[in-house]
Amino acid sequence: MPSSVETLEFQAETRQLLRLVIHSIYSNKDIFLRELISNASDALDKLRLESLTGSLAEVDTSDLHISLEVDRDARTLTVRDNGIGMTRDDLVELIGTIAKSGTAGLLEKIKDSKDAATAESLIGQFGVGFYSAFMVADKVAMRTRRAGTDSGTRWESDGEGSYTIQDDQDLPVGTSVTLHLKPADSEDGLADYLSESKIRQIVKRYSDFIRWPIRMASDRTDADGETTSELDTLNSMKALWARSRSEVTEDEYNEFYQQISHDWLPPAETIHMRAEGTFEYEALLFIPSQAPFDLYSRESKSGVQLYVKRVFIMDDCEALMPNYLRFVKGVVDAHDLSLNVSRELLQHDRQIQGVRRRLVKKVLAAVKDMQAKDAERYTKVWAQFGRALKEGLIEDTDNTEALLELVSAASTHDPEKTTTLRQYVERMKDGQDTIYYLTGETRAMVENSPHMEAFTAKGFEVLILTDPIDEVWVDQVPAFDGHRLQSIAKGQIDLDETADGEKETDAHRAQREEDLAALLTWLTTALSDHIKQVRLSSRLTTSAACIVGDAHDVTPTLEKMYRAMGQQMPPTKRILELNPTHPLITSLRTAHDTNADDPALTEIAELIYGSALLAEGGDLPDPARFTRLLTEHLTRTL
Ligand code: ADP
Ligand code: MG
Repeated sequence: MPSSVETLEFQAETRQLLRLVIHSIYSNKDIFLRELISNASDALDKLRLESLTGSLAEVDTSDLHISLEVDRDARTLTVRDNGIGMTRDDLVELIGTIAKSGTAGLLEKIKDSKDAATAESLIGQFGVGFYSAFMVADKVAMRTRRAGTDSGTRWESDGEGSYTIQDDQDLPVGTSVTLHLKPADSEDGLADYLSESKIRQIVKRYSDFIRWPIRMASDRTDADGETTSELDTLNSMKALWARSRSEVTEDEYNEFYQQISHDWLPPAETIHMRAEGTFEYEALLFIPSQAPFDLYSRESKSGVQLYVKRVFIMDDCEALMPNYLRFVKGVVDAHDLSLNVSRELLQHDRQIQGVRRRLVKKVLAAVKDMQAKDAERYTKVWAQFGRALKEGLIEDTDNTEALLELVSAASTHDPEKTTTLRQYVERMKDGQDTIYYLTGETRAMVENSPHMEAFTAKGFEVLILTDPIDEVWVDQVPAFDGHRLQSIAKGQIDLDETADGEKETDAHRAQREEDLAALLTWLTTALSDHIKQVRLSSRLTTSAACIVGDAHDVTPTLEKMYRAMGQQMPPTKRILELNPTHPLITSLRTAHDTNADDPALTEIAELIYGSALLAEGGDLPDPARFTRLLTEHLTRTL
């Protein structure tokens, strides 16, 4: 029964992506074959799993394989599998649209990227999958029949704006993708993909570990000059993780990683382990060298695949890796699980929880090891994944100590280099038992903040924390190696207790507080709309005033972040600290002693508060009023 041909439009984003692919941002076009073989392999996995778990019991799975077929006359290359196949609706949904999250944002970034290399790296992180076929073909035809259904569908497109779709009664179960190849062109990086040796080379390089046979016919000429065609299996199909470490070369690890991650860079670290005993499993994990573009998007998924005795079960197995380690890629092959295991069940399985604990420890230990042995590599890994690891300080309290060992932060010790907490502790002054830090939006804002003054003057090192997530973890972590973490913009700070310099006597200090008591009381009332207290400071050397929080107050940056996320936050009133030796403060005291009712004093109080706010990078409650007061007072002094 002939069926009509229907023409459908690609979704707008797909069209854009296709345009990018066709006009070729990829210099390495060979990877199209890796993508198609990977899809075929996934389809075989799915069919095998469904047949093992009973839902497709009647399907023949005795010879699951992938075949590559070359037709020199027609200039086509076909990748065929006898896997799960697709229904007509699957085709429209899976091939006609991009379901990946972050597509629109990515396309924007690619458009804005300055050079081809950046564009390529962005698209490389995204993975173009099936569409990569259009790098080498000007027409692609897909024929597919879903297992368990009795008719199939043909799909065809030149990759421009639309595709055609049509029923076909005579298709076997599975999928074939036929590429009508563009002419080979060395300038465009288009190799001769009809060449048997080229195909062998690409398969060996990118798809050797695919667990299904990849077959291709090859012509053999015997002694009598007789040519026969026979089928060859091109890949070794060895599950790398099942071999022992000593049998695997670094190149093999790297290529395996690139296959499962679709990354084009080698990994920064490879972790290969085997657990024996009551619950046996093998794990082969990788820490990438570069973070994927969507690592911090909400939909970013775990990168660990679960196998059960060599049978692929699922991608993105979040039960095996906590969310903050979602950048880790790899494979876990557990021997004693049911093939029917669901995500739900895995989350609650005690043995899987045990595996996960062990894997987390291994990954953290690997980063720690890198820190000790290869500082440069560690620094790069931290730059890529530090933010994610810091999420661990919030969500994984079992590993707080191990994670704190990995933390690397900017510090006042050396403007060029970051420091670990361990290094900070080693440099602490005699008698210092606290790790000091200051959070803020930028390094310059933190460094120039008035809170820093006494610390700089007295030579105390302060960590400079400018990552938004720093605001959160520092509050949750009680201590590192027995040393409390203390914000220099919070609570009472008395550096004299620990400084080696001259110490102010208690009597001297008490005297000064008494002298200024009336001023402090008056200022607290005058500024009560903005702050909860005015007190004397030991943090300041050159500034007249600064604003600090109580030990448990939310920081202004965090407050801003909560508001940006749409959370209702009552404004936190903080504390104004005055520098008792600053001429502005001593003069203010004299003026207040002389005439406490002078209205100009209240204005000066407001100006002092506003300046302290500006100095730490804060926003004035009423900038116009501040400017007017400042102008008036400046005019009066001239
Ligand atoms: P990805 O593989 O990352 O999902 P692709 O663009 O490579 O993205 O493929 C899109 C989807 O199309 C696949 O997820 C799969 O559902 C379907 N698909 C592609 N090729 C095949 C195939 N040979 N057999 C069955 N389904 C396929
Ligand atoms: Mg794919």
